[in-house]
Amino acid sequence: MLNKKTVDDLKDLKGKRVLVRCDFNVPLKEGAITDDTRITAALPTIQKLIGEGAKVILCSHLGKVKNGPNEGESLAPVAERLSEKLGKPVVFVSDYNVTGEAATSAVAAMQEGDVVLLQNTRFRGSEETKNGEQFSKELADLADDYVCDAFGSSHRAHASVEGVTKFISAKGGSNAVGYLMQKEIDFLGNAVENPVRPFVAILGGAKVADKLNVISNLLEKCDTLIIGGGMAFTFLKAQGMGVGNSLVDDTKLDYCREMIEKAEKLGKKLLLPVDAAVASAFPNPIDGPVDVTVVPASEIPDDKMGLDIGPETAKLFADAAKSAKTVVWNGPMGVFENPTLAAGTIAVARALAETEATTIIGGGDSAAAVNQLGFADKMSHISTGGGASLEFLEGKALPGVMAADDK
Ligand code: AMP
Repeated sequence: MLNKKTVDDLKDLKGKRVLVRCDFNVPLKEGAITDDTRITAALPTIQKLIGEGAKVILCSHLGKVKNGPNEGESLAPVAERLSEKLGKPVVFVSDYNVTGEAATSAVAAMQEGDVVLLQNTRFRGSEETKNGEQFSKELADLADDYVCDAFGSSHRAHASVEGVTKFISAKGGSNAVGYLMQKEIDFLGNAVENPVRPFVAILGGAKVADKLNVISNLLEKCDTLIIGGGMAFTFLKAQGMGVGNSLVDDTKLDYCREMIEKAEKLGKKLLLPVDAAVASAFPNPIDGPVDVTVVPASEIPDDKMGLDIGPETAKLFADAAKSAKTVVWNGPMGVFENPTLAAGTIAVARALAETEATTIIGGGDSAAAVNQLGFADKMSHISTGGGASLEFLEGKALPGVMAADDK
């Protein structure tokens, strides 16, 4: 159970200025928001604070902002969409300085229940990403209390996630987590620390190297660990199989052997692909035509690469998922961006949609796949944070959670 102050622990909010760090890092195409899940997910906390008569000051990053502040990465479209969803005006401070004079005056003009959205925090460059003291203080100066509801950014010790809390505390304010953070932590935390068993974890995606600690940690917690996607081929090679031109990380072969041994020692099931959909080359473009054959995992020809799990593996993984009471899934089973190579990912998504088990989708590509397939409302929880949920599954403490006051 989370032992941190939540938005419900903030008292006497009437007229108080509350700074809320949201994760409004939404995908944009030519200036239009293509998926507003993260805006919707932020509403409960914002509405609660409005209802209490607080002055609600929102901040977030958007995109990577590699070439300095620019209109393409402005939060303006978010302000508009948020205003529609809240059914009330959202005052957007478009100033690239984020916390400058324009922000100070907008906040000074706020009435109870008003909402102000600051500009993209990454417009302050390394001051944000390196947790700069000055920017942290400027953010804190705008508010009395602080709420972190940006789960998707909570694994980063940035000024608007971590640094700001020190200055809020220094002036006697409270630092709490919002409802979205609470929900994410409850689902992911319960799944990992207190799962209803059998607990099956499914990992996929491109590289083993990105998921070393997740594999190791989940092996200890789950009953069955399923590995598909590009990362499975390093495991298959570690077992002495020829994998042709499939994606392999030769520096991680020993690691994979260690994990296979670890699973045996702990008495955990480790399921790997038994067949694969292979092609002569990676499709280019990624969703372009590709000629595929299915072969047993132990018989991948030297000149072919595995780009999806095969139908037998899909059945094996789906059956394992269906026998579980708790399932956590992160990472696609193949190059799902290509319709010819999406069957494995679809089979796993369908199995999770059909089971009565608690199903938790760990953000990123698996969340995109579930959404695309129209299975979103069949899942118990779809995380809004890919990187953050992975770090959580690794057993790491998230800076955005740690920075909140203890209860
Ligand atoms: P990740 O970001 O690690 O979750 O990886 C997601 C990416 O892995 C997707 O873009 C998939 O296309 C890619 N992927 C999945 N399976 C394979 C595979 N067998 N070979 C190459 N890439 C893959």
